[in-house]
Amino acid sequence: MPIYAYILIFITASAFCYTLRFKWWEKKKTGLLVLSYHNIGKPPKKSKFKQNWTEKEVFEKQLDYILSQGYTTLTFDDLNEIQNGAAQMPSKPLLITFNDGLKNNCLLLDILKQKKAKANIFFVFDAIDKYNLWQNSSKELWQDMLTSTQIKELLESGLVGFGSHSLSHKNLKNASYEEAEHEIKESKFRFEQKFGKEIYAFLPPGETQPSARTRELVFKSGYKFLFCGVPGINELPLNTEAPIKRITIERKHYFAWVKAKLNKAF
Ligand SMILES: [Zn+2]
Repeated sequence: MPIYAYILIFITASAFCYTLRFKWWEKKKTGLLVLSYHNIGKPPKKSKFKQNWTEKEVFEKQLDYILSQGYTTLTFDDLNEIQNGAAQMPSKPLLITFNDGLKNNCLLLDILKQKKAKANIFFVFDAIDKYNLWQNSSKELWQDMLTSTQIKELLESGLVGFGSHSLSHKNLKNASYEEAEHEIKESKFRFEQKFGKEIYAFLPPGETQPSARTRELVFKSGYKFLFCGVPGINELPLNTEAPIKRITIERKHYFAWVKAKLNKAF
């Protein structure tokens, strides 16, 4: 065989192997999809967590695709109404979530208004109006967080839901029972006092899979939904006692990867 035939076979085989990651042979699953993002924008040159940044145009392209596929984007409030029986679960429900409550998330408002979509932000209560207090400045750049005024504006739009990501972003894995309870309970209480808006959702810092203790404390504190970092789709009807899985979308993910995740939801 001539050498180019070997090269061709090698390229074809490599391309085939690459497609295996999309598990195209598996049947498409349906259920509640939750996407997880952090920042909107270009990462600063010295940022160590560049993967946590999604450029505005990239996010808009992904959102356009989501909407073109017939997904209905929901807020935590919508999900609560559905679970209470006050509204129906749409056939293709999807929650867009942002971790930490970063200031650049205020860019969402114009995008959501323009595209008629909804999203959610997990705030760190003590960091509101401040910066990423929980990070070591020698390891990660200081970043501004959402201000109270911005949060009010986002809440008033009805397009952005808020959930708690604790008081101080303390790693719940290393926290004592009392510390964990304080982080979970007080963040809900203080946000509700400050903004007059009930909080239903919690995302634990430091735990991809929430511990039994976190689960107990979250529901004991009055939350309805516990989110986690485990990837996957959530079967319907939604079992709210189980942590809700999310798909993390990072800077390195190509559009084809995002499309495949949405279509296969693995
Ligand atoms: Zn976080």
